[in-house]
Amino acid sequence: MFGSRNARERSVTCIACGDSVARSDAREYDKHGDRWDRRDKEFEHLCKPCFADLCRQPREGLETTLDAAGAGEADRETFLRRFRELSEGDSSVE
Ligand SMILES: [Zn+2]
Repeated sequence: MFGSRNARERSVTCIACGDSVARSDAREYDKHGDRWDRRDKEFEHLCKPCFADLCRQPREGLETTLDAAGAGEADRETFLRRFRELSEGDSSVE
């Protein structure tokens, strides 16, 4: 039902910065875009600062970056490293 917030607060890990945040403070991110289909799925989570940050990017760019970084496939450490590299984009652009 609606409004029962006394369940234990679970914490989740932000896929972008690796911080632990309370689940209620995190934003779910489903790279497949169908967040209502929860079968056998583990959602990725972003903390608010990262979510705000990512949302400044064009959606298309975000998908590409997350995908290229191996979201949902690579292990967390690898993903985070790649994600940071790709996000910083200091190697080839300009
Ligand atoms: Zn974060």
